[in-house]
Amino acid sequence: MSQVRLEQVTKSFGSITVIPPLDLSIADREFVVLVGPSGCGKTTTLRMIAGLETASSGTIRIGERDVTELRPGLRNCSMVFQNYALYPHMTVAENIGYGMKVRGTPKSDIERSVAEAARILNLGAYLNRKPNALSGGQRQRVAIGRAIVRQPDVFLFDEPLSNLDAKLRIEMRTEIKLLHRRLQTTAVYVTHDQVEAMTMADRVVVMNQGRVEQAADPITLYEAPANLFVAAFIGAPSMNFIDGILERGEGGLWFRAPGNVTLPLPDERAKKLGAYLGQAVILGIRPEHTMATETNLPRISMQVRDVEPLGPHTLAIGKVGPAPFTAQVHAGAPISPDDVIDVPIDMARMHLFLKGTGEAVG
Ligand code: ATP
Repeated sequence: MSQVRLEQVTKSFGSITVIPPLDLSIADREFVVLVGPSGCGKTTTLRMIAGLETASSGTIRIGERDVTELRPGLRNCSMVFQNYALYPHMTVAENIGYGMKVRGTPKSDIERSVAEAARILNLGAYLNRKPNALSGGQRQRVAIGRAIVRQPDVFLFDEPLSNLDAKLRIEMRTEIKLLHRRLQTTAVYVTHDQVEAMTMADRVVVMNQGRVEQAADPITLYEAPANLFVAAFIGAPSMNFIDGILERGEGGLWFRAPGNVTLPLPDERAKKLGAYLGQAVILGIRPEHTMATETNLPRISMQVRDVEPLGPHTLAIGKVGPAPFTAQVHAGAPISPDDVIDVPIDMARMHLFLKGTGEAVG
């Protein structure tokens, strides 16, 4: 069993605390992605699990072992780095087998493990090449091969795809996912790319300033973000936010905001939102929930500033009242900058946040 547990773990550099007490549990075989903006403490957290940074306080456990004071080599984690960290003078085979050689593993065992890793990662044809004769994606696969042959309890990935071009990143994303499905080794993966997080993870941990804002499976994060931070971070293009107020009106509760925004709350949502009547709230609506699939949706008026045709659909970018707003419209919709358009809002998909705390209330 290779679950990873951080219990009240903190990290300070000098007088600056970058991780306040952090509790995080990663289940055996789970693929967990830590995601968040630059500087939020993802890499520091990963490096503390690896033992490359010492926790300032708290306990780190891998399986049943307390590894808090253990040096990296004894934790049985394999880390894959963003810059690959390959030895330039060694061949692919030597790079993959190096760790085993250092530990005195018999040559025949090394050869067998290297061949198996090369087979899994499609590197068989490159075993005698040096890293400088490989593409970025192949180099990253060698780095992953080196991690695999150690048969670690836990894989740790530190932004392993950031140096690859967009197309290769998508391919490697799938390869790493398939590899995890096959090896079933507990994995902790750090990225600042929310799409990477959403597509790869069993569970995504959204971090902000060293804290966990929300930890959940990708669909829950998308459909039920716990607060404004998660709502803004997950989803591309980002969720729209309109500051307004909840009022009682004809037939139930209404959301009203500057720019003639008057939107009825669906009955089933209104029931639990009565407590927030008269309060300042923020309506969240994703651009993809503004596309007219039904004709009887309520509408708001949007001033268009720019139009981005993306192929399958088009984005209209502009403002609703004072609030920046992006709407998804049908490809080829006859819209131009400076138009004022009526945007249908799918209120069944809306989110509501308290203005003061940012907490999601419905
Ligand atoms: P990125 O996506 O940019 O890599 P991150 O979320 O991984 O960011 P960390 O690298 O964990 O963030 O850094 C968290 C904070 O700790 C940052 O403010 C960073 O400047 C600080 N930090 C990290 N390492 C050190 C160090 N050795 N000394 C001082 N401060 C550090």
